[in-house]
Amino acid sequence: MAIEKVLIANNTSIIQDEVLAHRLGLVPIRVDPRLFDYLSENDQPNEKNTIVFKLHVQCKRGSPRITVKSDALKWLPNGSELVKETRNAASDSSSKPETYTYFGCSQETIPEFVKNPIIPKYPDIIIAKLGPGQEIELEAHAAKGIGKTHAKWSPVATAWYRMLPEVVLLEDIEDDLAEELKSKCPVNVFDIEDLGKGRRRATVARPRACTLCRECIRGDDWEKRVALHRVKDHFIFTIESTGALPPEVLFTEAVKILEDECERVIMELS
Ligand code: SF4
Repeated sequence: MAIEKVLIANNTSIIQDEVLAHRLGLVPIRVDPRLFDYLSENDQPNEKNTIVFKLHVQCKRGSPRITVKSDALKWLPNGSELVKETRNAASDSSSKPETYTYFGCSQETIPEFVKNPIIPKYPDIIIAKLGPGQEIELEAHAAKGIGKTHAKWSPVATAWYRMLPEVVLLEDIEDDLAEELKSKCPVNVFDIEDLGKGRRRATVARPRACTLCRECIRGDDWEKRVALHRVKDHFIFTIESTGALPPEVLFTEAVKILEDECERVIMELS
C-alpha cells in the first residue's frame, strides 16, 4: 500500500503541493497489503481498498521552525473527513455530508487492525519544514499497487542472490599453515581446531560467509590445498524489505507469482 491521492486543504509551506504529494507517496506504511483489494478506476474508495491518513500541522507565529515527520500522519479508520462540495446543498442538508470515501464500517473493527493500528513504518521520515505562520492540512489516500507501476509500491528496497559457495580443504592443513590460512580470509571462513599435544588443524567453519574473493588460494601451492566452488542449484537470496512485509514473506510471495507466470507460459505453449 502506498499513498496515491493527496487532497490538500491548505499548504502555506515553501514545499509545492506536487512535491509534498510525491514525498508522501514514498512513505512506507506498516500494513499487510494482502488484506486489501486493488482499487480500479471505476471502484468507490472503501474500507477494503483505501487507507486514509490526515496530516494537519501548524507552526505558530513567533515559534521556532518545525520539522514535520511521518509520525504526524494520523490514520482515519472511518475514512475521509473532507466534505465534498455538492451542487445542491439544500437537498443534502438532511443527509450525511458526502466525503471522498465510502466506508461501510470502521477499519478499526477489522480484527487484523485491532492490535496493529495502521501507521507509517518509520516515524522519523522528514516530510516538510514549516516556518512561523505556515501550515499544512491534507488528507492522503493510500491504495494497493505493484512496483511495475511505480517504485513506491515495491515492498523491496534491495534484493540480490548468489550461488552457495563451497570451500573444500583438499588436505589436512595444520599448525602454522592453519594459522596462515585463517589469517588469509577477510571474512573469517576458517577456524582452527585444537588436536591436543599442541597440534592445530584448519577447518571450514563458515562457508556461507565466503565471497569467493580467492585470497585463500593466492600464493605458493595454496590451490593444491583449498578448492573453491559454487553450488549451481543452491541460491542464497538477500532481501531488504521496506517494512510492510518481512523478507521471508516477500520471497515466498514472489515465488508464487513466478509459479503463476510459468504456468501461464506452459498453458500458452501447450
Ligand atoms: S575465497 Fe575469500 S572469502 Fe572465500 S574462503 Fe577464500 S579467502 Fe575467504
